[in-house]
Amino acid sequence: MTDYNLIIDGKKIATSETFPVINPATEEVVAQCPKATREHVDQAVAAARRAFPAWSATPDAERSRMVHAIADALEAHKEELTKLLTLEQGKPGVGFAGMGGAFEIGGTLTWAHATADLELPVEVIQDNDEARIEVHRKPLGVIGSITPWNFPLMIAIWHTMPALRSGNTIVIKPSEFTPLTTLRAAEIINEIVPPGVFNIVTGDGSLGAAISTHPDINKIVFTGSTATGKKIMESAAGNLKRITLELGGNDAAIVLADTDVAAAAPRIFATALFNNGQTCAALKRLYVHEDIYEEMCEALANIARSVKTGDGSGDVDFGPIQNKVQFEKVCTIAREAKESGARFLTGGEPVAGPGYFFPVTMVADIADDTRLVSEEPFGPILPILKFSDVEDALRRANDSNSGLGGSVWSRDVARASELASRLECGTAWVNSHAMIQPNMPFGGVKESGVGVEFGRYGLEEYTNIQSLYIAKG
Ligand code: NDP
Repeated sequence: MTDYNLIIDGKKIATSETFPVINPATEEVVAQCPKATREHVDQAVAAARRAFPAWSATPDAERSRMVHAIADALEAHKEELTKLLTLEQGKPGVGFAGMGGAFEIGGTLTWAHATADLELPVEVIQDNDEARIEVHRKPLGVIGSITPWNFPLMIAIWHTMPALRSGNTIVIKPSEFTPLTTLRAAEIINEIVPPGVFNIVTGDGSLGAAISTHPDINKIVFTGSTATGKKIMESAAGNLKRITLELGGNDAAIVLADTDVAAAAPRIFATALFNNGQTCAALKRLYVHEDIYEEMCEALANIARSVKTGDGSGDVDFGPIQNKVQFEKVCTIAREAKESGARFLTGGEPVAGPGYFFPVTMVADIADDTRLVSEEPFGPILPILKFSDVEDALRRANDSNSGLGGSVWSRDVARASELASRLECGTAWVNSHAMIQPNMPFGGVKESGVGVEFGRYGLEEYTNIQSLYIAKG
């Protein structure tokens, strides 16, 4: 038996098999989750397909109203959802700088409301004696959403609210590590939208491929690793699915010599450690000018020494790493950095006992070709690198297959902005990093993704253009 069900065509569906969901702080099983089969995926896609004509024809204002209603309904359950997030994802409710589970729920609500208010009006590009030409935006059909374990609910909302808003129907598959919050949200959402508009399947193995290869799905939106993103891109070719891929990043920040270290260090720390470092656009490589290098290392190490890592159900700054595979990856990357001779200012060793705990770790004097620098660790560990020439720092920052975000820090905003514009990434920040908001397009270049999310640009990705040419005379 399980307390959780798939939802297909508005109905709760129990499955004969289940899989366990683990609390990463205790390694205990917290729930059994329904294990869907490929037949369930087919049923969910068929339900979404049946619901599409009526949903896409629903007046725009009504769809906007329903997306607002979804945000309100989720808000009414925010305490329950925040607790569930801690249980399955590990993050504390409040956490460092108030950026824990409650912050994720807050983001969820903000994005849902903002998406509800977006518009895609008909654009008239010519209206003369010859013809009137209008550009219309049409929904694509059925959207397959595959979401990760770092921000399970917020990313589910990022994927699905623009899809609903623009008239598409959905089959969502959350990560096998964190399915519970999304399953609960899907129940709440299904009390608002018509049957078949929002379907959810969960499983632990082959459902992702069943979705990305499905001939009756029109678009895949995926957030996760570059390796899986590449597989999805291949699978999408079968029926020329549209894709939005938000993949890994290895964001660099360049800190110029005139930076006020005391002011910048807490902000740099917060953005590098956001969600325990398990954030696609977290600051992951910190290049600091030699004149202020030691001062910055010490300031960051001092903050790291002051924070508490532990079970997210208690009063802690950071929780565990979300799953065992990721935990072991972080341990290996840290060990390799140590073996390379890098200087560990704090942390460096996993915490003994149950739970996937790794302390906040600051690493100085590390070579660019160490894995901690060349790959995203996706955990609470930050390499701090020294530079003397800013052009060299820029070259090193851009020497990566990733291109999600990047930043430049300086008192000279004009100079920092000019340098930031030369970073090869989808979003460049000045004196900030990983600041995202619902009206600003966000996406990666190079191997960090395809397409953008958020705002009008993100919404457009859930539509096809239909040009309407009306001859005159
Ligand atoms: P992945 O990025 O590999 O994604 C796993 C998900 O993709 C599962 O839901 C899986 O479903 C699905 N999937 C696998 N193969 C396919 C396919 N061919 N078609 C469609 N879906 C597929 O997650 P991991 O947990 O393995 O994370 C690995 C790394 O990804 C992390 O170390 C981190 O670096 C990065 N990451 C980045 C995130 C971001 O925000 N950009 C978020 C999380 C991780 P199924 O199990 O059914 O196959």
